[in-house]
Amino acid sequence: MTRVAIVGGGIGGLTAAHALWRRGIEVAIYESAPELREIGAGVALHPNAMKVLRSLGLEDDVRATAGRSEWALTRNGKTGRMISRTSRREQASRFGRAGATVHRADLLDVLAGSLPSGIVTLGARCVGVEPDGELAVARFQDGSEVEADVIVGADGIHSTVKASLFGPDAPRFTGKICYRSVVPVEAVAGERPANDNAQWLGPHGTIVLYPVRRDELINVVCHYDDDGYRHESWVTECERREVLERYRGWHESLLRVFSAGELWYKWALYDRDPIPRWTRGRVTILGDAAHAMLPYLGQGACQAIEDGCVLAAALAAQPDDPVGALGVYERARRPRASQVVLAARERGVSNHLASPWAALRRDVSIALRRRLGRDPDGRGTAWIPAYDASAPDALTAGAGAVTAERG
Ligand SMILES: Cc1cc2nc3c(=O)[nH]c(=O)nc-3n(C[C@H](O)[C@H](O)[C@H](O)COP(=O)(O)OP(=O)(O)OC[C@H]3O[C@@H](n4cnc5c(N)ncnc54)[C@H](O)[C@@H]3O)c2cc1C
Repeated sequence: MTRVAIVGGGIGGLTAAHALWRRGIEVAIYESAPELREIGAGVALHPNAMKVLRSLGLEDDVRATAGRSEWALTRNGKTGRMISRTSRREQASRFGRAGATVHRADLLDVLAGSLPSGIVTLGARCVGVEPDGELAVARFQDGSEVEADVIVGADGIHSTVKASLFGPDAPRFTGKICYRSVVPVEAVAGERPANDNAQWLGPHGTIVLYPVRRDELINVVCHYDDDGYRHESWVTECERREVLERYRGWHESLLRVFSAGELWYKWALYDRDPIPRWTRGRVTILGDAAHAMLPYLGQGACQAIEDGCVLAAALAAQPDDPVGALGVYERARRPRASQVVLAARERGVSNHLASPWAALRRDVSIALRRRLGRDPDGRGTAWIPAYDASAPDALTAGAGAVTAERG
């Protein structure tokens, strides 16, 4: 039987472990942190991710803690003018599943809580891998080693496994930064904020708000053009007044939510080109290790979830040939994930248009494309939520990559 060792117990590693375990494949996770934990933030799980979670039997548990939004909206960040609006019901009928917005810690609890005990080893920091022998080897900081038929690097954006296979990556600063906070709904002064999954577009910026933990919390992520800050960490705090100053003149309902945020964090957005290989010998990578992307499509975790599902299907289909199965996995996944990386990059540009005329042209084009009915999101990216990584044809080379619908 194939034995798989996963380095990293984040969203991608845990989903992969779940998918492998459900297919009867022996799996172990090695996580560097002393406990499984997540940053205090939300994550949007689009229909493509929810289809995988359904296939793993986890959908109901995830939905139980999700925000209760009825609508996915795009608005003008200054005037509040509606640019587009889709109900969850319409999303479900179009894409096979509605999306959900959840707190990352709640998602991690569902993923970890449904695995058998003993699968996760904590405090295990991988320092390198050897992919080319009869078995793959992962080496750890304490001098220990683990052998397995397959090793999977699910160790995030600064992946040691990826660096060990292919050398260091070359992140490029985008000139954009992000702020984030999680705001208790009750703390917002005045009228109760709407519980929509809303994206607000304005000159040089995008603001994303959505509910998590039913109606208790609002997850806030704000992007802005700024080439003066270069720190990539997701956990560096900043002052609330910086955020309020930055978005001065944006819609008052946004500023009221911001004023209720006690803790704010700030990070610089770096971009990485899609890489030409994910696999060497018996070692492959998934999630941010394989395809770190800008956050404009909310697809980083969704793609990691797809990866785990397809990897498990590939290994289950070829139990006697794990190396061949890794080839199938990579051929199925890399084209699609690479296209999502590029689409997220493009979206960052079109969301931040500073010229009012260019922004108006974008908004009119979204409305027209939706009205003509050929493009449900009006922005040429419906191929992303439409895909089902748990479907039988997901192992086909290039599955789920861009179709003619894009434009
Ligand atoms: C604020 C914020 C909001 C986001 N919103 C969304 C969203 O709405 N939708 C979406 O789809 N995506 C979103 N993303 C992106 C998404 O969170 C990431 O793409 C996703 O977490 C990637 O999962 P992963 O498992 O590959 O990596 P991670 O979640 O980073 O997990 C990597 C794990 O590996 C461990 N590790 C690292 N190095 C080692 C080592 N050497 N040895 C052992 N273990 C190691 C880490 O401790 C960690 O547990 C957001 C990200 C942020 C920061």
